[in-house]
Amino acid sequence: MSRTKRFTSEMELIEWLKKNASSRSRGLLLGIGDDAALLKPQADRNWVITADLTVEHIHFCHALHPADAVGHRALARSLSDVAAMGGIPRYAMVSLVLTRRTERAWIESFHKGMRRLADRFGVSIVGGDTAFGSTEVMVDLTVLGEVQRGKALLRSGARPGDQILVAGELGVSALGLHLLRSGRRTAEEADRMAVKSHLFPEPQCVLGQYLAERRLASSAIDVSDGLSTDLYRLATASRAGAFVWEDSIPLPSRRHQPGVRRAFLLSLALNGGEDYKLLFTVPASKVRLVPARFQGLSIYRIGEIRDSRAGIKLMLHGKLHALNPEGYDHLRRQGRKQAGDSQRLPFKSEV
Ligand SMILES: [Mg+2]
Repeated sequence: MSRTKRFTSEMELIEWLKKNASSRSRGLLLGIGDDAALLKPQADRNWVITADLTVEHIHFCHALHPADAVGHRALARSLSDVAAMGGIPRYAMVSLVLTRRTERAWIESFHKGMRRLADRFGVSIVGGDTAFGSTEVMVDLTVLGEVQRGKALLRSGARPGDQILVAGELGVSALGLHLLRSGRRTAEEADRMAVKSHLFPEPQCVLGQYLAERRLASSAIDVSDGLSTDLYRLATASRAGAFVWEDSIPLPSRRHQPGVRRAFLLSLALNGGEDYKLLFTVPASKVRLVPARFQGLSIYRIGEIRDSRAGIKLMLHGKLHALNPEGYDHLRRQGRKQAGDSQRLPFKSEV
């Protein structure tokens, strides 16, 4: 256990971070400690780089999210973006804005959660910055990865006729948050899994690499803001439309939650977000080459890319409904991240 409750100086914190930095990985010439890190790019690879902000009261709150989960989730978001590009994550830069109340134990636990995930994915934390004095904790994460030249998965490659697939269930993280907030957690396995999915999401980097290397996917995105929003982003980038069959969308298990309505779970899958599952399209001729299961997760076929004139639609009870992007949007609706607030179905009947 730590001797002091707080780090007494920034230098002490940096020394601690340096001592607890991850081991050197291939291509890392110089990590934390100099003015900047030195990296050696691999031949025949392109860099993939992504940045994510994690802000207290927006992305987490101390009452619900333990420090190690905050560290894990901050890094998982960026790893998931690299996964959606078909890349291999290599390096991370972590900058922290801390409050004067932030305790040393919180920082250590935050770092432990982040480090555990980084180590598992072979990611070296190679630098960052710290500042004190804010009223809220903020984490700024930059992850650098590599992808084989010419094989990156883009959002823009989907073509009419391509099948839409998703790896794993959607809405599980939002259900976990709902359970955490309502305090209605039971000891049931399904509840525990939902809460775990929310606190410690698993980025699908290996699947992304698999799809990219074999050129199976024509486009990909990670579901970070809900299926309705991320499918909209993918279809728009591809200048295409999309049809999704509601009864094909994989929802959280309801076996142990008899009180939870299916419509509620569907709204979580469509608009909840933070699932970090890969949503990708595969030309019809290649669908049989995609495994039914990958690293223990089922891969589901949920729809089909259509011409842009067809729009983005959800087939529900035999009728097509416009599927609008109703997932989390920082500017449009503060607090929608508090999934479970809305049980309203996010689409209007066309008829
Ligand atoms: Mg993303």
